[in-house]
Amino acid sequence: SNAITSDLLSFTRSAEAIRHNCQWMAGGVNSNFRLNISPTPLVIERGEGPFLYDVDGNRLIDYYLGMGPMILGHNPAALTQAVKRQIDDGILFGAQSAVEAEAARLVCQMVPSAERMRFGGSGSEVDQAALRLARAATGRRNIIKFEGHYHGWFDNVLWSTAPAPDAAGPREAPKAVAGSKGQLADTADTLVVLPWNDPELLEARLAQGDIAAVIMEAAMCNAGAVHPLPGYLEGVREACTRHGTILIFDEVITGFRLAPGGAQELFGVTPDLSTFGKAIANGFPVAAIAGRADLLDMFVSGGVVHGGTYNAQPIAMAATVATLQSLKPSLYEEIAVNGTRLMDGMREIFARHGVKAVVEGFPQVFHVAFGLEQPARDYRDLARMNRQAYVAFTTALLHRGVRALERGAWFMSIAHDDAVVASTLEAVEGAVKQIRA
Ligand code: PLP
Repeated sequence: SNAITSDLLSFTRSAEAIRHNCQWMAGGVNSNFRLNISPTPLVIERGEGPFLYDVDGNRLIDYYLGMGPMILGHNPAALTQAVKRQIDDGILFGAQSAVEAEAARLVCQMVPSAERMRFGGSGSEVDQAALRLARAATGRRNIIKFEGHYHGWFDNVLWSTAPAPDAAGPREAPKAVAGSKGQLADTADTLVVLPWNDPELLEARLAQGDIAAVIMEAAMCNAGAVHPLPGYLEGVREACTRHGTILIFDEVITGFRLAPGGAQELFGVTPDLSTFGKAIANGFPVAAIAGRADLLDMFVSGGVVHGGTYNAQPIAMAATVATLQSLKPSLYEEIAVNGTRLMDGMREIFARHGVKAVVEGFPQVFHVAFGLEQPARDYRDLARMNRQAYVAFTTALLHRGVRALERGAWFMSIAHDDAVVASTLEAVEGAVKQIRA
């Protein structure tokens, strides 16, 4: 075993830097979702294509991709050039610019439901804008969200995003489980939490007539990559229309990743509102809310407020235009080839070594669930995976130069080519041997 371990990467400089930086930054990081990484949160010097280069001198194949945004890979030339050009013209105007209009035009052209849109700064923010519009439009107060679906870190939505099974109550009537201390408990009074992919439970609750909006990830991708059951999205669409409820697709992960027009294009179901972030600008802090013109125009004549100092910041807009111009249908086909090769290769390795696991999702974003025998239908299924074994696996992978999220999805980019997939599969083989040993 010495022969194997001598090749393994070490992360001691990252670990030292994190310990040192704790004196200024809480935990040495700037997001709770970058904390508690085994063996240590990393400190990165540079990104290029599918690779990150860290302070220990390691080159890592990156499947975090900035938690999803980098569909073009790290530092694509077209994007960095557009940003460099834009920065010479100024940073922030508190006014409109030609580049934001072009970015908006591209969003409306690419996203099937986008008659009108607004830019925002983060997925969390635009989800709030969507809920506010839905309440204003319907005059109703309550929102349906689903277990395991993540809509940002704010008080009124950080409920039941990753509930412990024993805290969540019965499946037919889940309890809203708070995600954080300090969260206003009474925001749960405006939420109805349901299991996803269950049309009967949704219909029964909508029929009470008090629901302003149903918000969902059209494919649950924050914790894994779970498909909607055939007909489910169509059924939700029809039920929402029939009950006067606004349907919101949170496409912060799926948007511009599953297809140029996101999950709504892939599945052919049109929400009233949808929200975007992440892949829309390949790593720049850009988000968007899009949808029916009559709803978005409530920001103009319906008395609904939406703000943000940095909304449509010109440099971020230049990044958005450059990104969206790159997102041709052929790009998704190419990612699909390599993503499918990676998923199939992992399945083959797990089968050969007798590791019980499912590899499921989409070639552009998928998950690996140890201990499951069939694809998950909802969060409760996914939560039955063997988390401990999976963390041992991702840790073993990291020591072999492959960085995959401990919780959640593998993100692919156009830079993850044949050779990168082959190296990844070698690392997977090595990691599997290690955890089976
Ligand atoms: N919605 C979904 C589905 C997400 O995955 C995320 C972030 O991970 C958000 C919303 C929140 O976006 P942000 O982190 O940009 O606030």
